[in-house]
Amino acid sequence: MMSELSITIPIARPVLDESEAEAVKQTILTGWVTQGPQVQLFEKEFAEYVGSKYACAVSSCTTALHLALLTIGVKPGDEVITVSHSFIATANSIRYCGAIPLFIDIEPHTYNMDPLLLEKAITKNTRAILCVHQMGMPCNLQKILDIAHSYNLPVIEDAACAIGSEIFLNNQWDKIGKPHGDIACFSFHPRKVITTGDGGMLTTSNEKFDRQFRLLRQHGMSISDSIRHQSKKIIFEEYPILGYNYRMTDIQASIGRIQLERLPNILNSRRNIAKRYHTILKDIKGLILPKEHEWARSNWQSYCVVLSPKYDQLSIMQYLLDHGISTRRGVMCAHLEPAYQKVIWKESKNEMTGSNDKFCNHLSVSENIQNNSVILPLYPQMTINEQDKVVSILNQSLNLNGPNQ
Ligand SMILES: *Cc1c(COP(=O)(O)O)cnc(C)c1O
Repeated sequence: MMSELSITIPIARPVLDESEAEAVKQTILTGWVTQGPQVQLFEKEFAEYVGSKYACAVSSCTTALHLALLTIGVKPGDEVITVSHSFIATANSIRYCGAIPLFIDIEPHTYNMDPLLLEKAITKNTRAILCVHQMGMPCNLQKILDIAHSYNLPVIEDAACAIGSEIFLNNQWDKIGKPHGDIACFSFHPRKVITTGDGGMLTTSNEKFDRQFRLLRQHGMSISDSIRHQSKKIIFEEYPILGYNYRMTDIQASIGRIQLERLPNILNSRRNIAKRYHTILKDIKGLILPKEHEWARSNWQSYCVVLSPKYDQLSIMQYLLDHGISTRRGVMCAHLEPAYQKVIWKESKNEMTGSNDKFCNHLSVSENIQNNSVILPLYPQMTINEQDKVVSILNQSLNLNGPNQ
């Protein structure tokens, strides 16, 4: 067995240095460490960056998704159309509301919701569409929004991985998070493009939604503690609704503000590395590379390749690990997990058979991608030598391990 120390090339690596450490120190020395002035500034700067009227910081993207669904009024028994092929938090957030995730399949090369399957999945119980910009690759928002609008359904974007990604809509390039759907949700987990340790953000152009997020993230408290703290008069707060503690701390926000300043450089490096992967890998037989449509600019949060079926995913990944290179299986499918075996979820009907029964696989692309894809290392500090090493070891493993015996 190789020890953790023998990993020479990790899957990801956050960009953090003295600047973040100094910002945290400054915040701690002010004596105000929970949600306060740093959170407010981070929200303002984030909203400016993505081009959104409002941005509300929370403790994670998972809690952001929960608040987004609650705010648009998702109730027990409602259906929310989404993809199974996503980090499990996407589907879980629907279940937190007592609602039912209705899974539709993905497109094979963008790993995103297939908009051609969307309309057929809409029923009288559909309450919302929760689309995902998977691994930072923008999903086909234009088509999704067109269908959503014609059925008067709200759209929530799971943009956990998509800070800095762009989409060409209405004749211009927009950042993901500039409100296109009703609400977009971001993550600052270290595996994403910028980090606050843990953290999340909701963006919207709807003032009422933003007010609701602020109420819900702080116990449903009518007056925030920072306002009470500054007041010259005694004021008592009220709790008009059932809320949560989903706050981001000022310590986290002060890290986030520095990370946001770094973002343009981070994006530059990630895009260069992804472009180079594309150039070097495109002639390797048996590998299918991710597709960036002409209307999409990914931030390349992950670079995910699909192995042709003759290769064994596990052996390839093990070979890379044995040579000090860390990889990950591509994105999971929530519906295959034990947590989804005893609960209700639905999948859209299969066009071919018209059947809706469990034995007929409507999520075959999702499952196929989960079982055959590999995420390669990509981080801004990655050197050309490191990247060449990944490619050469990958090549070796393809030659040695395939065809699958
Ligand atoms: C990471 C991720 C989440 C969860 O984000 P957290 O901030 O860790 O809660 C949700 N959806 C997707 C698509 C993700 O990749």
